[in-house]
Amino acid sequence: MDFTLTNEQELIKESLREWCERNIPMERIREMETAGHPLPDDIPKGLGELGVLMGTVPEEDGGSGLDWFTQALVAEEIGYADISAATVAACMAVMTGWGYTINKYASDKVKKEAVVPALKGQKFIGIAATEPGGGSDVSSHKSTAKKDGDHWILNGEKTFISGVEEARKWGGGYWVNVNTNNAPDGPPHKNMSAFYVPVDAEGFEPDEPYRDAGRLALSTSGFRMENVRVPEENLFGEVGRGFYYTMEGFDNARILIAAGNVGTVQRILDDGMEYIKEREAFGRPIAKFEGIQFELVELYRELEELRLLVYKTAWMQDQRYQNNKFKPTEVAKWISMCKWKGAELAVKAADRAMHWLGAAGYSDEYPFEMAWRGNMSYSVGAEGAKNIQKLVVGRELLGKEYIPYK
Ligand SMILES: Cc1cc2nc3c(=O)[nH]c(=O)nc-3n(C[C@H](O)[C@H](O)[C@H](O)COP(=O)(O)OP(=O)(O)OC[C@H]3O[C@@H](n4cnc5c(N)ncnc54)[C@H](O)[C@@H]3O)c2cc1C
Repeated sequence: MDFTLTNEQELIKESLREWCERNIPMERIREMETAGHPLPDDIPKGLGELGVLMGTVPEEDGGSGLDWFTQALVAEEIGYADISAATVAACMAVMTGWGYTINKYASDKVKKEAVVPALKGQKFIGIAATEPGGGSDVSSHKSTAKKDGDHWILNGEKTFISGVEEARKWGGGYWVNVNTNNAPDGPPHKNMSAFYVPVDAEGFEPDEPYRDAGRLALSTSGFRMENVRVPEENLFGEVGRGFYYTMEGFDNARILIAAGNVGTVQRILDDGMEYIKEREAFGRPIAKFEGIQFELVELYRELEELRLLVYKTAWMQDQRYQNNKFKPTEVAKWISMCKWKGAELAVKAADRAMHWLGAAGYSDEYPFEMAWRGNMSYSVGAEGAKNIQKLVVGRELLGKEYIPYK
């Protein structure tokens, strides 16, 4: 394992840093938060032009064929710029993680209709798994798909789905998990299948967006499917395999969220450090006080631990896809450690920085409260709640017989 960046990776990082400074400086991130969704579409388009949106899609399918390590570096740069996490969520975790997975299991029709425009930033693609009955148990979705000749009829309801407004404005659709009841006597997860559902399909009924605590430039909404009819080509892979593909999609998104968290924590510490060196209390810079300095140093150590964890895991992810070197479940264990630690550390660093600033940290004069609210989304639920990451790690460490819900 060698963490020396190649010339190409250095170049991608450098051009992306410049692009972010020009296109999403902190003032614009704040403006986007204040304006609310939909996310301005010049962002995905710009990233698409750079070839880093859904960069891991293979070249033969129109992507850049980036490896996961390089895509993680991209997510880190975006996390550094957009600490509200809206752009990281929309463009990196959701579109890239799920875009790669959609492309892997899609028919040529869906690749042409959805993947190719999405990787140019012209359409939105995302994941619609969560239902009003719950999100953590991915094997228990109540939405259904029934076969009707060479079509499928989908019914059901999804909640807290990122990007519905964006998809309606830009065009696009979702990876939608449903129960196909193909193995009624088998375990529930073997009845799960996944389909591509465009948001302009007849019977696709979006709800009003939620008033979320953070990530305000990106919408989350529910939607209902009332006899939505999609052709056979919209089925991903095989009937009854949707649960397994979905787990792969979550892994692909989670590694990028954690990489985004690395950038965010770095930015919080860089900006926080500047503040504590300048701000004086009791006649000296507050950075001189152990109570503050030690918190900074401890966070710095944790940041470097997270970075190493993410880099190693992204490398493992490449080994898995390129060389079949690690079992998917082993990589999932590492990815869940990244997702859990990344979300936790981003929230913790924002929380500490808000305290260093005192009252100013509690206001929108500084970006730390925005980072706190945005990154909390990954701790409570987005792309899997923290406890669910612990379940994945526990399953791999102790064995399947220790899964608590079985
Ligand atoms: C901002 C945001 C964006 C989102 N975007 C999307 C999206 O694009 N697509 C999508 O499909 N979903 C999305 N979600 C939903 C997300 O996937 C769910 O929040 C998540 O899966 C958890 O499901 P839930 O909220 O229904 O909580 P529940 O499943 O009801 O869980 C509630 C609590 O119980 C804990 N818990 C559950 N089971 C166990 C267990 N066995 N052991 C220990 N603890 C347990 C959970 O960790 C959680 O703390 C988004 C969520 C947020 C906040």
